[in-house]
Amino acid sequence: MTTSSPDCLFCGIVAGDIPSTKVYEDEHAYAFADLNPQAPTHVLVVPRKHFSDVADLGRDPDAAAGLLAGIRGLVAQEGLEHFRTVLNTGAEVGQSVFHVHAHVLAGRPMGWPPG
Ligand code: 5GP
Ligand code: ZN
Repeated sequence: MTTSSPDCLFCGIVAGDIPSTKVYEDEHAYAFADLNPQAPTHVLVVPRKHFSDVADLGRDPDAAAGLLAGIRGLVAQEGLEHFRTVLNTGAEVGQSVFHVHAHVLAGRPMGWPPG
Protein backbone atom coordinates (compact mmCIF):
# COMPACT_ATOMS: atom_id res chain seq x y z
CA MET A 1 0.00 0.00 0.00
CA THR A 2 1.15 3.54 -0.73
CA THR A 3 1.89 5.40 2.48
CA SER A 4 2.55 8.82 0.99
CA SER A 5 2.06 10.50 -2.35
CA PRO A 6 4.88 12.69 -3.69
CA ASP A 7 2.91 15.76 -4.73
CA CYS A 8 0.30 15.62 -1.98
CA LEU A 9 -0.08 18.77 0.16
CA PHE A 10 -1.36 16.91 3.22
CA CYS A 11 1.34 14.21 2.99
CA GLY A 12 3.76 17.15 3.11
CA ILE A 13 2.02 18.52 6.20
CA VAL A 14 2.02 15.11 7.93
CA ALA A 15 5.75 14.75 7.15
CA GLY A 16 6.44 18.24 8.54
CA ASP A 17 7.80 19.47 5.20
CA ILE A 18 4.97 22.00 4.96
CA PRO A 19 4.17 24.04 8.09
CA SER A 20 0.87 23.62 9.89
CA THR A 21 -0.64 24.49 13.24
CA LYS A 22 -0.87 21.12 14.97
CA VAL A 23 -3.87 20.62 17.21
CA TYR A 24 -3.66 16.87 17.90
CA GLU A 25 -1.77 13.81 16.76
CA ASP A 26 -1.56 10.12 17.47
CA GLU A 27 -0.16 7.01 15.83
CA HIS A 28 -2.63 6.99 12.95
CA ALA A 29 -3.90 10.56 12.59
CA TYR A 30 -2.69 14.15 12.46
CA ALA A 31 -4.97 17.13 13.09
CA PHE A 32 -4.23 20.75 12.21
CA ALA A 33 -6.02 24.08 11.94
CA ASP A 34 -7.67 24.81 8.59
CA LEU A 35 -5.97 27.73 6.81
CA ASN A 36 -9.36 29.24 5.93
CA PRO A 37 -11.56 28.51 8.95
CA GLN A 38 -15.33 28.33 8.45
CA ALA A 39 -16.18 28.21 12.18
CA PRO A 40 -14.51 29.25 15.44
CA THR A 41 -13.11 25.72 15.60
CA HIS A 42 -12.15 24.28 12.20
CA VAL A 43 -9.67 21.44 12.34
CA LEU A 44 -8.69 18.98 9.61
CA VAL A 45 -8.02 15.40 10.70
CA VAL A 46 -6.05 13.24 8.25
CA PRO A 47 -4.70 9.71 8.31
CA ARG A 48 -0.92 9.62 8.26
CA LYS A 49 -1.11 7.29 5.25
CA HIS A 50 -2.23 8.66 1.92
CA PHE A 51 -5.75 7.84 0.73
CA SER A 52 -7.41 10.04 -1.87
CA ASP A 53 -10.87 10.20 -0.30
CA VAL A 54 -13.18 8.43 2.14
CA ALA A 55 -14.15 5.75 -0.38
CA ASP A 56 -10.47 4.95 -0.94
CA LEU A 57 -9.91 4.96 2.85
CA GLY A 58 -12.72 2.43 3.25
CA ARG A 59 -10.59 -0.14 1.45
CA ASP A 60 -8.44 -0.28 4.60
CA PRO A 61 -10.70 -0.77 7.64
CA ASP A 62 -7.82 -0.42 10.11
CA ALA A 63 -6.83 2.95 8.64
CA ALA A 64 -10.49 4.02 8.54
CA ALA A 65 -10.86 3.16 12.22
CA GLY A 66 -7.65 5.07 12.87
CA LEU A 67 -9.15 8.24 11.38
CA LEU A 68 -12.27 7.92 13.54
CA ALA A 69 -10.14 7.29 16.61
CA GLY A 70 -8.16 10.42 15.71
CA ILE A 71 -11.38 12.46 15.55
CA ARG A 72 -12.32 11.05 18.94
CA GLY A 73 -8.92 11.93 20.34
CA LEU A 74 -9.16 15.48 18.98
CA VAL A 75 -12.63 16.20 20.37
CA ALA A 76 -11.77 14.63 23.73
CA GLN A 77 -8.66 16.77 23.98
CA GLU A 78 -10.51 19.93 22.97
CA GLY A 79 -13.58 19.18 25.08
CA LEU A 80 -15.91 19.34 22.08
CA GLU A 81 -19.30 17.73 22.67
CA HIS A 82 -21.11 19.26 19.67
CA PHE A 83 -19.40 19.42 16.34
CA ARG A 84 -19.93 18.74 12.65
CA THR A 85 -17.72 16.34 10.71
CA VAL A 86 -17.53 16.73 6.92
CA LEU A 87 -15.66 14.57 4.41
CA ASN A 88 -16.05 16.02 0.92
CA THR A 89 -15.58 13.43 -1.81
CA GLY A 90 -15.09 14.74 -5.34
CA ALA A 91 -14.45 18.21 -6.74
CA GLU A 92 -18.16 18.67 -7.56
CA VAL A 93 -19.05 18.68 -3.86
CA GLY A 94 -16.10 20.76 -2.77
CA GLN A 95 -13.10 18.45 -2.34
CA SER A 96 -9.99 20.43 -3.23
CA VAL A 97 -7.24 18.37 -1.56
CA PHE A 98 -7.14 14.72 -2.53
CA HIS A 99 -5.78 13.28 0.70
CA VAL A 100 -8.80 12.28 2.74
CA HIS A 101 -9.52 14.71 5.55
CA ALA A 102 -12.32 15.14 8.04
CA HIS A 103 -13.32 18.73 8.69
CA VAL A 104 -14.26 19.11 12.36
CA LEU A 105 -16.28 22.30 12.79
CA ALA A 106 -17.66 23.72 16.01
CA GLY A 107 -18.44 26.90 17.90
CA ARG A 108 -21.36 28.36 15.95
CA PRO A 109 -24.91 27.36 14.99
CA MET A 110 -25.07 25.30 11.78
CA GLY A 111 -27.98 24.87 9.41
CA TRP A 112 -29.27 21.70 7.79
CA PRO A 113 -29.24 20.65 5.00
CA PRO A 114 -25.68 21.75 4.28
CA GLY A 115 -25.12 23.91 1.17
P1 5GP B 1 -11.72 20.32 0.92
O1 5GP B 1 -12.17 21.51 0.09
O2 5GP B 1 -10.82 19.42 0.11
O3 5GP B 1 -12.86 19.59 1.57
O4 5GP B 1 -10.88 20.91 2.12
C1 5GP B 1 -9.58 21.33 1.98
C2 5GP B 1 -9.30 22.28 3.10
O5 5GP B 1 -7.91 22.44 3.23
C3 5GP B 1 -9.90 23.68 2.92
O6 5GP B 1 -10.81 23.95 3.99
C4 5GP B 1 -8.68 24.60 2.92
O7 5GP B 1 -8.92 25.80 3.60
C5 5GP B 1 -7.64 23.76 3.60
N1 5GP B 1 -6.28 24.01 3.16
C6 5GP B 1 -5.84 24.11 1.88
N2 5GP B 1 -4.51 24.29 1.85
C7 5GP B 1 -4.11 24.29 3.16
C8 5GP B 1 -2.83 24.44 3.76
O8 5GP B 1 -1.78 24.59 3.13
N3 5GP B 1 -2.79 24.42 5.13
C9 5GP B 1 -3.93 24.26 5.88
N4 5GP B 1 -3.79 24.24 7.22
N5 5GP B 1 -5.14 24.10 5.33
C10 5GP B 1 -5.23 24.13 3.98
ZN1 ZN C 1 -1.40 12.51 0.86
